[in-house]
Amino acid sequence: MQILMFGPPGSGKGTYGSKLSAKFGIPHISTGDLVRDEIKNETEMGKRINDYSSRGLLVPDSVMCQLLQKRITQPDCTGGFILDGFPRTISQAQELEKMSTTDLVINVQVPDAVVIARLGSRLTCRSCGAIYNELFLKPRVSGRCDKCDGQLYQREDDRPSVIQQRLELYQKQTQPLLEHYERKNQIRNITNNQANVPPEEVVEEIVKIIQSDSN
Ligand SMILES: [Zn+2]
Repeated sequence: MQILMFGPPGSGKGTYGSKLSAKFGIPHISTGDLVRDEIKNETEMGKRINDYSSRGLLVPDSVMCQLLQKRITQPDCTGGFILDGFPRTISQAQELEKMSTTDLVINVQVPDAVVIARLGSRLTCRSCGAIYNELFLKPRVSGRCDKCDGQLYQREDDRPSVIQQRLELYQKQTQPLLEHYERKNQIRNITNNQANVPPEEVVEEIVKIIQSDSN
């Protein structure tokens, strides 16, 4: 079972992906994590990626595809995987089709206002980077990190005007991909209209969608 997760920043797709992974016993592969691991482990690939980003360039599709190919040919992927953060372009989608067979695309749809409410209430610890949320993951003491007592602050990325820009960029990049998978009849939409729906509920709905599809 090979599933792609699509959703705007703040849609919760990362959380849903990892819960689905536990449910179905297949790995949740986030290309963002793959990239960070390569950089952290200072591999050849990591150095190349670092070189691109330090020059303000996008990591080329060929590098991303190589990275993904390496991951999905690991033994734990024989039963399938959940892919998060890939493909981002039509050319990546075409490369993915050469190396694997996608079954479904789960498209998490969240109204902009909800994303802004969610990300806009996110707080990050200045000392350890832990993430909290004023709506549903409050620190025990307001403004202080539970883990290290560090100061909590709002990242520049989480300011409403910046979130709006990130959402617009996401829509622009994703539209051609949605059309691509729509033509293959692989898109399954799931709508999340509220800021504080427990992830378990959303995951349950996604599981139903997946199961009804494989029947
Ligand atoms: Zn902290």
